[in-house]
Amino acid sequence: MEEFDVVVAGGGPGGSTVASLVAMQGHRVLLLEKEVFPRYQIGESLLPSTVHGVCRMLGVTDELAAAGFPVKRGGTFRWGARPEPWTFSFSVSPRITGPTTFAYQVERARFDEILLNNAKRKGVVVREGCSVTEVIEDGERVTGLRYVDPDGGEHAVSARFVIDASGNKSRLYSSVGGTRNYSEFFRSLALFGYFEGGKRLAAPYSGNILSVAFDSGWFWYIPLSDTLTSVGAVVRREMAEKIQGDREKALAALIAECPLISDYLAPARRVTTGKYGQLRVRKDYSYHQTKFWRPGMILVGDAACFVDPVFSSGVHLATYSGLLAARSINSILAGDVDEKTALIEFETRYRREYSVYYEFLLAFYQMNVNEESYFWHAKKVTNNEEYSELESFVDLVGGLSSGEAVLATSGRIAERSAEFAAAIDEMADGDDANMVPLFKSQVVKQVMQEGGQEQMRAVLGEDAEPELPLFPGGLVTSPDGMRWLPYHPA
Ligand code: FAD
Repeated sequence: MEEFDVVVAGGGPGGSTVASLVAMQGHRVLLLEKEVFPRYQIGESLLPSTVHGVCRMLGVTDELAAAGFPVKRGGTFRWGARPEPWTFSFSVSPRITGPTTFAYQVERARFDEILLNNAKRKGVVVREGCSVTEVIEDGERVTGLRYVDPDGGEHAVSARFVIDASGNKSRLYSSVGGTRNYSEFFRSLALFGYFEGGKRLAAPYSGNILSVAFDSGWFWYIPLSDTLTSVGAVVRREMAEKIQGDREKALAALIAECPLISDYLAPARRVTTGKYGQLRVRKDYSYHQTKFWRPGMILVGDAACFVDPVFSSGVHLATYSGLLAARSINSILAGDVDEKTALIEFETRYRREYSVYYEFLLAFYQMNVNEESYFWHAKKVTNNEEYSELESFVDLVGGLSSGEAVLATSGRIAERSAEFAAAIDEMADGDDANMVPLFKSQVVKQVMQEGGQEQMRAVLGEDAEPELPLFPGGLVTSPDGMRWLPYHPA
């Protein structure tokens, strides 16, 4: 049987991040990917922490800049009580300053391929067209996995750690134990396709994502080049039947319901050939696994959890969890920290980041309450159901979380949402100088915090300020960001 230190299932952003960061410390890593890249994936709008934090650590900053992806300075929203669109720009966040105040809109086939090719350059053995079928167990511990190669040959590999980064559709995650809990609140359905020739926002925000709420849900409108646009409708799940019947008609009807998107698409035609030619549907995408690891096995990215497409958190959570998992594995393999301590650190930080986004997105949806619309009425946080979902999620780390983001009650969500809405009202349209209130609101501050910190660390390296542990007995990040270290107060 072949032996590796780490074997990773899945070559999306989560898998290639963890594989590269472990290989960069000199360990032997195998990555198995079911498809042959480039392959299609949804999730095209990125956040600055991925581009300037994790991608900088991976060493692909220049390659991304050269790829010509549209520069995303923030998000433009027709959302909440204001009838006019408002713009959220990354540029005035106190934690994200200087030349790193943007992200990219990416064609995922190209972005994911850049990360996977980089993993190969970092020494990861990458095998495409190889589908992982199951993990190998020895008592409590996962000790390897089995996969099928493109010719149908069956193989077994042993490793100190197996990473499941196989995304939303694979079933491997279940080997970690626990259950996958689906969110009632974020239980929607997305119908999406691609258009050529749609309108653009005015400069300098022409690369922004445009998110538009309307009675049946909301639309994303993501510029992927000067002419290509990704357009998706997030609607209530009960519309599934209608959409399965005739997707073309269903999307056209939804576009007709939303004047702003109709206007932007007026000069456009839908792409009907090639990888962007079909209309796709995704549902049941909002969930979290009650266990993120067991001895020898770790879940990363969508294999562990995903909140909701609004506000582009998916690739951030996938690459961030890849970074956290890599730090834990690097520390264990170097003999610096025992496995349980390192993986509790991984899980606590990952769950905290997930819960920060969960709470933020609850507050974000809350801004759009429209009693007459089924979709928005259902998104009204009226009881403690959403709170208990968030609470039970965070409780799983045994109260170890910092407590900052975990105190959400339906009352507090409403309060946060109102604070956020008031901040939006305070700023003038599109004027960065007036965006300070937005960054002062609690939910926005929290959601920018950890990503901003990762960015600073990636930029400053050894000069980054030392951090405090997240919880008593917790670990801190090494100056190069690649490992955990025990905390010794000065
Ligand atoms: P993936 O990108 O899914 O990669 C997993 C890989 O594993 C795939 O390449 C797959 O082929 C491979 N694989 C699967 N099974 C096996 C197996 N058995 N063996 C080997 N390999 C396997 N996120 C954003 O950041 N911005 C957005 O704008 C955004 N929009 C979204 C819109 C919708 C409607 C949805 C549903 C999600 C959106 N997301 C967005 C989320 C984003 O798509 C995911 O969070 C992200 O792709 C997760 O990355 P990953 O590496 O965990 O998994």
